[in-house]
Amino acid sequence: MTQTSQPLDLTSQLNESQIKATTHLGGPLLIIAGAGSGKTRTLVHRVAWLVNQGFEASSILLVTFTRKAATEMLNRCQDLVGATAGRVTGGTFHSIANSLLRRYASFLGYTRGFGILDRDDSESLVGRLRQNNASAAGNPNFPKKNTIMNIISQSVNCGLSIKELIKTRHHHLVEFSEALNLLGQEYQEEKKISDLMDFDDLLINLEKLLSQNEDIRREVAGRFTHILVDEYQDTNPIQARLTHLIGRDHGNVTAVGDEAQSIYSFRGADFRNIMDFPNLFPGTTVLKLEDNYRSRPEVLSVANHLLTLAREKYDKTLQPNRQSGLKPKLIITGSLRNEAELVFTKIASLIQSGVSLSDIAVLFRAASHSFELEALLIKNRLPFVKHGGRKFVELPHVKDYFAFLRLSVNPHDAVSLARVLSLLHGLGAKSVEKVLSWLQTNPGALDKLHQAPVANKAKNSLHQVSALFEKIGSSTLSPADTSREVLTFYQELLKELYPDDYPGRQDDLNEASQMVAGAANLTNLMADLTLDPPAALSKERSALKAFGSPDHQDELTLSTIHSAKGLEWKHLFIISAVDGRFPSPYSLKTAAAADEELRLMYVAVTRACDELTVTMPMEASMMSSFSAHKPAPSRFFMTIPFDKVDVFQNYHPVGPQALNSSLSSQDARYHEDTEQYYGTFSQPPENYDSISEYGIFQTPKVTSAPKGSPVDAPVTGQRVKHPVFGNGRILKVSNQKATIDFDLYGLKHVMIAYAKLTQAES
Ligand code: ATP
Ligand code: MG
Repeated sequence: MTQTSQPLDLTSQLNESQIKATTHLGGPLLIIAGAGSGKTRTLVHRVAWLVNQGFEASSILLVTFTRKAATEMLNRCQDLVGATAGRVTGGTFHSIANSLLRRYASFLGYTRGFGILDRDDSESLVGRLRQNNASAAGNPNFPKKNTIMNIISQSVNCGLSIKELIKTRHHHLVEFSEALNLLGQEYQEEKKISDLMDFDDLLINLEKLLSQNEDIRREVAGRFTHILVDEYQDTNPIQARLTHLIGRDHGNVTAVGDEAQSIYSFRGADFRNIMDFPNLFPGTTVLKLEDNYRSRPEVLSVANHLLTLAREKYDKTLQPNRQSGLKPKLIITGSLRNEAELVFTKIASLIQSGVSLSDIAVLFRAASHSFELEALLIKNRLPFVKHGGRKFVELPHVKDYFAFLRLSVNPHDAVSLARVLSLLHGLGAKSVEKVLSWLQTNPGALDKLHQAPVANKAKNSLHQVSALFEKIGSSTLSPADTSREVLTFYQELLKELYPDDYPGRQDDLNEASQMVAGAANLTNLMADLTLDPPAALSKERSALKAFGSPDHQDELTLSTIHSAKGLEWKHLFIISAVDGRFPSPYSLKTAAAADEELRLMYVAVTRACDELTVTMPMEASMMSSFSAHKPAPSRFFMTIPFDKVDVFQNYHPVGPQALNSSLSSQDARYHEDTEQYYGTFSQPPENYDSISEYGIFQTPKVTSAPKGSPVDAPVTGQRVKHPVFGNGRILKVSNQKATIDFDLYGLKHVMIAYAKLTQAES
């Protein structure tokens, strides 16, 4: 044992139960508690306390879900007890397995210098094997390397054979079952021969090593006197067994988690794992943390309601510790565009009121759900970071689609044309060059591309694409029609380019096309979405100043819910909470999957500290492939007692019955499913008054003055025209200034007396 100098004051930092957990001595400990109850905070203090007690820091093992989380937690420990805490071993199960395997590699037939295949490397290896596979050769529909890799990894993590997995989860690939099984075997053999491990091997091999060599297991177990695991509910069975193999001798294992937040079953995690901990470690002390320090009572009340809906009941109610605040808002909007505008407007007003962008996050079920909002953020140069998926302007298939659209408004765009030509059948790099040089003497003649001097095999494709350009080059075509023509043309190419995962990409394109269809003007939309990174960044920074943001270095967070685990934000938006998007259409086939979807909503809601806004774009629900039903709000909110939330229709406070009003009694399946999974609908109390005294969204008082008449006293919500910036909507009026969201130029502040505003069409 070593001594540390910095004293640790627990009482000012933790409550009684947290201190009890922090200072637990000897034996297994399971802290099982709801979101925001201080589990991670307690774990940090426990590590610091152990160091402070004199336990050798390097003998303490802290396991977290991401490496970033480990770094942050250990930094916090150092703040608490000094530099010694820096020697604590922290990381993910994978990173810890890597360092242990280095030492004992020879026992498994590897050298100490074994290579690690990251995801890209694994895919390249699979790609090579695929090339030599007889079934794959010449079959354009054969799954691509990343799909094959997903299947191999899922089969390892879920403990299912490749054939079983395809039968249950990838049925559209069933004809390739044999071939994929063979590829899987070849992949495993090839790695072994080449002294390579992939990420999954790290865990599997460590388990093999420790379970087959008792001396080594004892040595490793002896190295770590204490093991602490955060987010235990998302461990898979291999990880649970590893914890046991290393920790069972001394039993000094602390696991913290919340079974209601288990959201990684697709990676083999099982929320029952955490319940099984006391069986794995007999004599476990189970502690609960009751108080929630993160969220306002009103947010917790919604989260608690969600917990009551689960079929497999959770024994917990989140107890508020913080003062009362705002009621969560459920906002019904029309289109996705309406939703994005509303969220954007709200974010802009938060920034203006002094909120830092880093205190705001927008969460969604699927990465494509934020496309409309991303477009608005890009247009308005509001800096954002996206977790859990790529920004839509970076997706290759969306880039393809935009290349066609760009050419429809600018036939001289050679960069987009080169992209489009390279997608076509029969055109190699040389033919593309020939077409491009032919165009130099026939500028803009996209409807006559077939006249370019290329080999015959390219002619047919050029004929087809010329016909498309003839149609979409017409100035009379609306953005929606142009988009439809492009997608019809691109559909076949998409399937050929991405035969194994085109359905997901198709969803992205549907999402992007809804955005395009809603645009007033394609030229402007394309210009708005063109980002020149360095220039854009500085523009974004200055735009932030214009918004009045106190911190110009901030970024807004956009994130899938899966990537938001363990995190918190003061102001939180959950978007696209409509049936068919969240819950996702695929999730309601079984009660277990429906429950996982519900847990995902619970994770989302419990990320909010102060303010929660849930938006429901009803038209999106109508367009979903989910069903032929009428649009419907997410079923998770349909049974919510109406005093827990304020319901709005766009900017207007409305009665809670608005949630129900879009459903008719003929929507039998919806009702049946909802009742089956989540109980019967609750009815609003008769005298219910939904108008919140805190309502940020005031009903816009839009004047009905005729178009063109001068506007001397603009009001929030009014559509006006500015002589330079064109049409826009007034967001705020104060101190003789108006903040206007211009259709083409984004947010601007203007002096009312000089702006010469006139009434625009609403
Ligand atoms: P999750 O389940 O989402 O991972 P958690 O249980 O790990 O949540 P923490 O992130 O540790 O919860 O804590 C939630 C918030 O509450 C943090 O901002 C944390 O600093 C704060 N908090 C926790 N306990 C206390 C306490 N005793 N006093 C003051 N703040 C606290
Ligand atoms: Mg946590």
